[in-house]
Amino acid sequence: MSKTIIVWFRDDLRILDHPALYHAALDGKVIPLYIHNETEHTNSEWYSLQALTAFQQQLRDKGATLVIKHGEPVRIIPEVVQTFEADAVYCHYQYGPGSREQDEQIKENLFVPVRQFHGNVLTEPGTILNKQKQPYKVFTSFWKSLRSLPIAKPFPVPHKVDWYNGKASAIPHAPKSPLNTYWQAGERQALNKWRQFLHDQINHYQEYRDFPGIDATSLLSGHLSHGEISPKLIWHEAKEALEITSMENRFQHTMEESTETFLKQLVWREFAYHQLTFFPQIIDKPLQPKFQAFQWQEPDPLLLDSWKKGLTGYPLVDAGMRELLETGYMHNRVRMVTGSFLVKHLLIHWLDGQAWFSRMLVDHDLANNTMGWQWVAGTGFDSSPFFRIFNPVKQAEKFDPDGTYMRNWLPELRNLPLEYLYHPWEAPEGVLQEAGITLGKDYPLPIVEHQYARERALEAFKQLKKEANNH
Ligand SMILES: Cc1cc2nc3c(=O)[nH]c(=O)nc-3n(C[C@H](O)[C@H](O)[C@H](O)COP(=O)(O)OP(=O)(O)OC[C@H]3O[C@@H](n4cnc5c(N)ncnc54)[C@H](O)[C@@H]3O)c2cc1C
Repeated sequence: MSKTIIVWFRDDLRILDHPALYHAALDGKVIPLYIHNETEHTNSEWYSLQALTAFQQQLRDKGATLVIKHGEPVRIIPEVVQTFEADAVYCHYQYGPGSREQDEQIKENLFVPVRQFHGNVLTEPGTILNKQKQPYKVFTSFWKSLRSLPIAKPFPVPHKVDWYNGKASAIPHAPKSPLNTYWQAGERQALNKWRQFLHDQINHYQEYRDFPGIDATSLLSGHLSHGEISPKLIWHEAKEALEITSMENRFQHTMEESTETFLKQLVWREFAYHQLTFFPQIIDKPLQPKFQAFQWQEPDPLLLDSWKKGLTGYPLVDAGMRELLETGYMHNRVRMVTGSFLVKHLLIHWLDGQAWFSRMLVDHDLANNTMGWQWVAGTGFDSSPFFRIFNPVKQAEKFDPDGTYMRNWLPELRNLPLEYLYHPWEAPEGVLQEAGITLGKDYPLPIVEHQYARERALEAFKQLKKEANNH
């Protein structure tokens, strides 16, 4: 007799390369379930409601009804199992400590089996180990090890599914948001965006990916973090594209290098899941324990607020923070610069930055965001050392050499000649007047002086080292 299987969709709103759905379709009738349990109004939550709307429609087009429930999964799952007299629940693993605990609780309380699959990663987190059977702490070694493994092929869309088709559920109300201008959710959007990037842009990724003024990265992070596309699909399609073009292409070498650089970035995501699995304390404790004793400044609400609003007086930092405010996204290079500014120039705890990013990013991903902040703060395993302090002016000169990015996000500085755009406080009065800027009124003076901030940060680090040596 055919079974009834509940497929619990969460951060995997797609049907292509969805192992849980694929297996459920083989095993019986499929009840697609989504549980809405968000109470915080973050930009990522806004995105997930858009993704849910798109997914509901996608299933409707297939004659399926997505069952949508609200509340604690621990309570909802048994109720749904009972209502549909289901024989099993299939879903993908999640790797955050809270989700893992919740899933264990569900399994303990349920009278039917729960089958879990590693659906949103290239390899099973926790399985890539060094020769001593220990987790890798250095990215390059992790990358080399992963690259030598056979990555499983993506599962196709199941050929035939016996879907549940019943009364449609209402989707939680998503407030109107200007983010609509920037992001369109959905599996079809994700696939189109990826394939267009693969076709038109991946060759230039290596050369331009660090320049925020150039449209050179994939912008797939929102789709990946909400599971509208799978990393395995990306991996294999990128490799296949290389094979197809290798026949007669004289740019083959550049293509290989650029594709490899792109896949390497994708593997940073994998490295983040690997770390979250082995070191769950990463979400709020420094991975290098010595940093527990670091003397962060008492957070000054005015300074923190200036950073959040993009009013620090350093144009690259401000452009990044305004991009985040406006779009819920920030270019990777600028995430590093703004993050470094918060923790090193202002000596504000990285957890404050992590919290702001998790509220603002449409692509918020617990593993990536946490690893990103530990990298920036120098507290992680393979992170930027604390004593390497980004100079926000030099970073701007190097990575926004014609000022496109800063001018785009800081309209008040648009008329400032390039040579002063990096440090408006050095512009002569006449130049400022001509550009229509009064510093301190139209655009702030720096909230902290770079050299002073640098020395203060290095001093705090020296104290930390002293303390570590005394213990
Ligand atoms: C402080 C800080 C916080 C971050 N927070 C997040 C977050 O919450 N969610 C998130 O997805 N990424 C985060 N990142 C990583 C990175 O900035 C974004 O993944 C990237 O900017 C997304 O743009 P893209 O899709 O165009 O990337 P591409 O350059 O096109 O890369 C393709 C994909 O690879 C992955 N990737 C790329 N770079 C990284 C990286 N450094 N670490 C981990 N994965 C990477 C992403 O899934 C990305 O979509 C953070 C980085 C820093 C420094």
